[in-house]
Amino acid sequence: GAVDADCEVLVLGGGPGGYSAAFRAADLGLKVVLVERYATLGGVCLNVGCIPSKALLHVAAVMDEVSHLKSAGIDFGAPQVNVDQLRSHKDKVIGRLTGGLAQMARMRKVTVLRGVGLFVGSHHLQVEETTGGGQDRTGAKKVVQFQRAIIAAGSQAVRLPFMPDDPRVVDSTGALALKEVPKRMLILGGGIIGLEMGTVYSTLGARLDVVEMLDGLMQGADRDLVKVWQKMNAPRFDNIMLNTKTVGAEATAEGIKVSFAAAQEGGKAPEPQTYDLVLQAVGRTPNGRKIGAEAAGVAVSERGFIDVDVQMRTNVAHIFAIGDIVGQPMLAHKAVHEAHVAAEAIAGELKGDEKLARSAFDARVIPSVAYTDPEVAWVGLTEDQAKAQGIKVKKGLFPWAASGRAIANGRDEGFTKLLFDDSPEAGGHGRILGGGIVGTHAGDMIGEIALAIEMGADSVDIGKTIHPHPTLGESIGMAAEVAHGSCTDVP
Ligand code: FAD
Repeated sequence: GAVDADCEVLVLGGGPGGYSAAFRAADLGLKVVLVERYATLGGVCLNVGCIPSKALLHVAAVMDEVSHLKSAGIDFGAPQVNVDQLRSHKDKVIGRLTGGLAQMARMRKVTVLRGVGLFVGSHHLQVEETTGGGQDRTGAKKVVQFQRAIIAAGSQAVRLPFMPDDPRVVDSTGALALKEVPKRMLILGGGIIGLEMGTVYSTLGARLDVVEMLDGLMQGADRDLVKVWQKMNAPRFDNIMLNTKTVGAEATAEGIKVSFAAAQEGGKAPEPQTYDLVLQAVGRTPNGRKIGAEAAGVAVSERGFIDVDVQMRTNVAHIFAIGDIVGQPMLAHKAVHEAHVAAEAIAGELKGDEKLARSAFDARVIPSVAYTDPEVAWVGLTEDQAKAQGIKVKKGLFPWAASGRAIANGRDEGFTKLLFDDSPEAGGHGRILGGGIVGTHAGDMIGEIALAIEMGADSVDIGKTIHPHPTLGESIGMAAEVAHGSCTDVP
């Protein structure tokens, strides 16, 4: 058929993966077409994920912080919440960032095509134009021919099949739309996304229940970190239902009536409960089966993931994939780094630049952060993993109850812990393998531990690095000193 446009690199999807790949490829001198079905760039992260959730979490954290000041003699009284204004504040934050992306695309001469992309051959993508704020199709179709393609089509929230189609049942996108504040809210799934949204709604006035199939909230993080968060947040919850499955839901005049079952045989199931709002946060599923990948010969797993090598190359040599669609962890910072690798590998091939052509994803670790209050952040090996894998570690733990800054802030519930290699081969000078922080601003600090792991630092390197006093970041240096014993002044 006729070709309407051609390019060196086609990028499918305008999220953090897609726009980062497009911008890097353009910076490296390639002709780039970026296809996105929505009106704005930024994908899930900017429009309905990382950014709007953090705009709301910031507001919630300030509200909670202010309420802590009562004991310091400052009382602002009960908050007056204007949900409409809060929503438009959040939308303004998004608008500023998506507007910035559009400008950056123009500056780099990246052609942005608005529409739903579908592979129709190994070098051709059909784009069906979309319009409005959503993805309404106009029927107008174009075909783009490409030399290389980068698939960055992302993921979407999982929907439980038995959930009624009702405005009182939402996923994270619906929760971020912030229509109103419910009295009783059920968070279905005790992961980061559900607990972040729960934090916002509960600070705004909702009572929370959470139901989780496994035996703990915030899976992936060490239990000692989560325990601190859970103790501080207990007042937000009426029921924390662990080891519990959600098995049915019914829309009634009073609310959404949800029924539960024990996840394990012999367990006790909670009674059915009725909620004003149910947030489904049971995970995200990749969009791999919706992009016509088979027409390009790209292999997609049953669940919709696309397998890639260290250069982000799929089974088809000239087609790459990045971000949520290639697997866990589904995080924006992972997508961005993968994007740069794919764009560089392609530029290396097309421009004959051997150094660029060797670009590969070789991050040792990818940090995770729950932007709850307090925040929970971890990176690299966890204590639970060390135990399970039989890896001998030396732990340095610094409780914030001994941090001047944390006490001054009135938030000394947290701690910082570092894990060092304590295998016989390490000879007592083991490198850092992982770390975790629970406390205010934990997410802003975890990057230092990630850097230490990437650089192969040991406890002396970290402990002897002068951190400014009094800061929360100091706790990282202190934790390292705890691990090596503060009297080992001779390196
Ligand atoms: P996406 O952001 O999903 O972008 C894919 C894009 O492709 C979308 O814009 C989509 O419209 C488009 N697309 C898909 N198919 C087609 C098609 N056929 N044609 C045209 N366009 C198409 N991560 C963090 O790191 N930190 C956080 O704090 C964080 N918070 C989150 C909070 C929430 C509520 C949610 C839901 C997610 C959060 N995430 C967070 C995860 C983060 O949003 C994702 O990891 C990230 O957006 C993945 O980027 P991506 O480029 O792979 O895909």
